[in-house]
Amino acid sequence: MIEVRRHNAGFCQPCFLKHCRDQVSRAIEEFEMFGPDDRVLVAVSGGKDSLALWDILLDLGYQVDGLYLGLGIGEYSGSSGTYARQYAARRCAPLIEVDIPSEFGFDIPTGARAAKRVPCSACGLSKRHLFNQSAVDGGYDVVATGHNLDDEAAVLFGNVLRWETAYLGRQAPVLPAAPGFARKVKPLVRMGERETAAYCVLSGIDYIVEECPMAVGNKHLGYKDALNQIEVQSPGTKAAFYFSFLDRVSPLFTGIAEEERQGLQPCAGCGSPTTGEWCAFCKLVAKASGAPLGGAAGGTTGAGVAP
Ligand code: SF4
Repeated sequence: MIEVRRHNAGFCQPCFLKHCRDQVSRAIEEFEMFGPDDRVLVAVSGGKDSLALWDILLDLGYQVDGLYLGLGIGEYSGSSGTYARQYAARRCAPLIEVDIPSEFGFDIPTGARAAKRVPCSACGLSKRHLFNQSAVDGGYDVVATGHNLDDEAAVLFGNVLRWETAYLGRQAPVLPAAPGFARKVKPLVRMGERETAAYCVLSGIDYIVEECPMAVGNKHLGYKDALNQIEVQSPGTKAAFYFSFLDRVSPLFTGIAEEERQGLQPCAGCGSPTTGEWCAFCKLVAKASGAPLGGAAGGTTGAGVAP
């Protein structure tokens, strides 16, 4: 029996797997994420969330391929890539691969040091850029990521603590397409991370269990811990916090995010939409490689596809 305290319910194995698929279907429909004719690119890290998402979307019959980014984080990247490839082979599903060290000449820890950023900041901006670029280059309509309810509630908590109004305006389960941007969606917002882990175990999906070594001391994990303590006392608080924000508060901030989007122009290096002359990813590549802006290696997502 799998208990989901938030729903005050317990499920046997087949009912739990159906419950997970239903939660994803409901999120896709409720937030109008995509339809059966859309081509979806799901960002897979080899972890439980992204593999559960890929599995559920395939089972629901969507046209969905995987995208794996090699971050160059030692053994962690080696293992996570193996899990992503194993899953793709098991489902005979196409997996696009972009390897940052071989295509752009730096790994995340080195790039972060060179750019004087914390690793998760360098990693996050690289992911956002390359997920979008890969989708645009590959003609995909939508990029789907495995952010779950725990992730979204923790990000919201952090943004509220600092009243980051532009981030609050962008924190939605769907970010619409715009020139140079594919639509971004988070179909797991109705599932907690215990549920995605249970889904993988019950479906026989192997995933990387180790946390990324760069996550140590990450504020996001601290926010998750704080919310987990509240959730133990009061099940359902995380979902109420997040979904009430979407219903009642988020519309107050969307104008700020919209204004930001309207001020975008093509990056002088890669053509991606950005607020300045050069996008943050081109600046990171230049700093990491020591080459002048516009003269650094990379700039394509000439990715391998398997199988
Ligand atoms: Fe990237 Fe940080 Fe996540 Fe590691 S913990 S994969 S560095 S965002």
